[in-house]
Order: sequence, then C-alpha cells, then structure tokens
Amino acid sequence: MSYDLRLMTYVLQDTHAHLDFSAFDKDREAVIERARKAGLQKIICVGCDLLSSDRSIELAKKYDFIYASIGVHPSDADKWNTDLASKFIVQAKEEQKVVSIGEIGLDYFHLDHPKELQKRVFREQLDLAKQLGLPVCVHMRESASDVYDVLIDSGIEQVTLHCFNEGLEFAQKAWARGWVLGFGGTITYPKNEELRKVVAACPSELFVLETDCPFLPPQSHRGERNEPVYVIEVAKMVSALRS
Ligand SMILES: [Zn+2]
Ligand SMILES: [Zn+2]
Repeated sequence: MSYDLRLMTYVLQDTHAHLDFSAFDKDREAVIERARKAGLQKIICVGCDLLSSDRSIELAKKYDFIYASIGVHPSDADKWNTDLASKFIVQAKEEQKVVSIGEIGLDYFHLDHPKELQKRVFREQLDLAKQLGLPVCVHMRESASDVYDVLIDSGIEQVTLHCFNEGLEFAQKAWARGWVLGFGGTITYPKNEELRKVVAACPSELFVLETDCPFLPPQSHRGERNEPVYVIEVAKMVSALRS
C-alpha cells in the first residue's frame, strides 16, 4: 500500500472502529499494527452494549493509541437498565481512556425495538454523558429528525453524528449547533453525490474521519472487511473534495 505523503501532515485518526468484533478475532493484532505503521495516531474503539464496551476498554488499556467509547446502541436498547448505567458511570470515572458515551441514538431502518424505547434509552444515556461531562457519539439511521429533537431537548453540547449520511439541509442545522459530523467509507460510494456536497461544504473544525469497521469499507475495498487503515481512503476523498 502506498499513500500520498501530504496526508501524513494531518493527525490521522479513526474516530469510530469496532475492533472488539469477532470479525477481527483471527488477526486483531496485525490489523492494529497495520494501522499504527500507516501513521494512524488514534483509534476510538466504540461499544454497542456492555460486553463490547468492556472489550473496547480492554483494547484501550492494551494499546497506547486506542481509546474507548462506552454505550448501548439503539439495536440493543432492550439491554439498557439502571445497573448498566451505574457500571458505565464507574468505568467512565475510573478508566482514563474512556473518551465518550456511544454509540447511542435511534435506528428506524432496522427498528429492532420500538421508537419510544429507543428514545428513552437515548435520552437516559445523554443525561449520563452530561453528568459525566463527556461527548456523545450518535448513531442515526432514517431517524435524523427525531435525533435532532432529542439532542436539542437534552441540552448536550459535544456531539458527533457518526457515519453521517444526511443531506446539506440537515448538515447545516447540525453545524449551527456546533455538532461534528463523522465521515466514513460511504463518502466514496458512487451514488453518494449529495453526501460529497456536505463533505465539501463542512466547516474544517466540524468533521472527523472514521471507518465504522468491520462495516462500510471504502469503494476500493467494497465486499471486504473494513479496517482502520482504510481511513486513509476516506482522508484522500475528503482531501480531493476540499482541495
Ligand atoms: Zn452506528
Ligand atoms: Zn458503529
């Protein structure tokens, strides 16, 4: 693999990876070393439930450049309870490498759980993040309007909308609030012309790069497992779109 060295002058990071997933069980160490050798300076391993949040913390403890986010994904909304909330509070306070709460949010595409349950679990985790003074990593799919309303109601300020896939109009509403957009492999897909307009127009301080690996590989690796080093493909596309 060879990459444009101009990119290396930026802090290259994958702000959203699921390195704890079983897709990496056979070669996790090699995947992480490949990312390090390619110049990634930071990877945030993102939890979806208690187990994956625990595993993300373990990875963060093992590797200096890996950090952890802890939370319950809307697809696991039924696993949220007060015991889990108490556990997250302890972890966030005791583990220095826990940098955010997430991924949390609303998923109306899969709709694994009723909207009202998803909203309650989302709200309670936003309260938790506020209480802890941590930013949140938000997952939304076909739920942008409700996500916006719940975020505004909560009064939370530090928000990243991960794997952003909405149009310019919603992006502008997010920017007006100072929310950060996460751009991943989907910005390289041929059909996502509208999304590339958002990338081109985004204020420099209001976006981060991510992979969401093992899912959503960039176009050049479609059909393969995604991994943190491919964030470089996302960086190349961002760089091209923003001159
Ligand atoms: Zn997500
Ligand atoms: Zn994710």
